[in-house]
Amino acid sequence: MRRRVACDNRPALMKRLFSLGAVVVLALASIVLAQTSGQATLRTPAGDKPFTYVQQSGQTYVSASEVTAALGGTIAPDSNGYRITINNVVAAFGPDTRYGVVRDDLIEMPVPPIAIEGTPYVPWQFFQGLLVKTSSMDVAWDANAHVLLVRPLAQNVISVQPSVANVEGISKVVLTLSAAAEYTILKEQLAYVVRFKSPIQPPFAEQTVEDPSISKLSFAGNDLRIQLTAPDVVADAYKLENPPRIVLDFRKAAAPIPGQLPAMPGLKQQELPGIRTIVIDPGHGGKDVGASGADGLLEKDVTLAIARKLAASLAAKTGARIVLTRDEDAVVSLDQRTALANQYKADLFLSVHLNSSVGKVAKGSETYFLSVEASDELAKKAAETENASAAAAPVADPSASDLKLILWDLAQQTYLDESSRFAQAIQEEMNAATGVANRGVKQAPFKVLVGATMPAALVEVGFISNPDEEKKLTSDQYQTLLVDALTRAVQRYKTDYETRIGIVQPAPAAPAAPAPATATAPATRTVP
Ligand SMILES: [Zn+2]
Repeated sequence: MRRRVACDNRPALMKRLFSLGAVVVLALASIVLAQTSGQATLRTPAGDKPFTYVQQSGQTYVSASEVTAALGGTIAPDSNGYRITINNVVAAFGPDTRYGVVRDDLIEMPVPPIAIEGTPYVPWQFFQGLLVKTSSMDVAWDANAHVLLVRPLAQNVISVQPSVANVEGISKVVLTLSAAAEYTILKEQLAYVVRFKSPIQPPFAEQTVEDPSISKLSFAGNDLRIQLTAPDVVADAYKLENPPRIVLDFRKAAAPIPGQLPAMPGLKQQELPGIRTIVIDPGHGGKDVGASGADGLLEKDVTLAIARKLAASLAAKTGARIVLTRDEDAVVSLDQRTALANQYKADLFLSVHLNSSVGKVAKGSETYFLSVEASDELAKKAAETENASAAAAPVADPSASDLKLILWDLAQQTYLDESSRFAQAIQEEMNAATGVANRGVKQAPFKVLVGATMPAALVEVGFISNPDEEKKLTSDQYQTLLVDALTRAVQRYKTDYETRIGIVQPAPAAPAAPAPATATAPATRTVP
């Protein structure tokens, strides 16, 4: 859901009136829904504080102002929702989207925030996302005791999330840490080793890298070993704050000055051209249930059911190798999902999700591909505020946010055009299959698409918040209808792509009869 409440060019007063209007509508909508409310306890290491919570349609909402105040922060309305500041970290949420923003990251909530008598309530998961992403604390909701528990994350173990990008001939390895850590860097004959002084939690044991300077990353004990492609590769290392990161810049010792010979980033060399490996990513899993419906249907269950059917269908109809990011009800981190796709050298990545909105009427599918730009005013506002405060603080490194943007950019820019074509094919097929034509292709900085080095899209196949769609989504028949549409979309995109790169002959101008829908057949199906 990415409707905009107000436009840029309206005067500030108009913006305020528009957003007040939205709040009033939400308040009215909430009255007709069954809800219970009461007092709950926010429990932090510093002590207990009371706050108001509301339960509605199986979701637990907490008073944004009361919990923010109890955490020592402040909250203020802005043109698109509310802005929260806790410990100099700015986060934002709006009334019509279940994606909050903190720094340049997204906080996914099961449903959008609501307003009750003009007071904003957010799903408790908003504060969980906020604290987990910006502090060493975690948040859990005890539904029986009505306690929102804020406690330290597993201490002393630092999680390390590596990413690799080639920026104008320099191979950048960025290690994002869950907390600042002490380390030393050792040079070996064909490797650099980052040795941490405290225990670390690696996201994988070993990963091969396609890069001119680096061939492999591997973790063992407290060491990260960065394997080089040649002994004359040298590295510069430096630290960045907020979040803590270690950056290593690798280049050939005798390489020309960077910038003179820009390399083409992200292009991978493949043995065989074409769409050979497709990764299907069922959203959520395990304790991350995703959105839920009024009848108790969980997003994680529907996405897995659809992904399994889609995998079987695509394997049969395209001949491609199909990989699922999860084939059981388990938590898989967003980074792991794209890392897996990269590991399999996938040619296409499709993440399957369900949508949710406050009202019950929204229906149909939406398809997203990655944008580097903040997708709406809400995301832009939060990013601007963060950048402004970073520039004002003399200790902050002004290049930190730029670097992160560059890395985001490089991860997908090579594939934006292809991702857009892929998303378009999905949306057309889904609109045709479901008979809903008013939703379209959108760009958004979805974390799961960041880091995919292949064309990638995210499809929200339907609204779990719409009782009709919730019911349909449980039916085998309707799931198959969606799977057939997604299969046609992948086939269309695959044929289109392989035709453009010249490994499939273009379709004849006027075929006598429709060709059978096989992996290499030209696309014959047209959608208005
Ligand atoms: Zn989802």
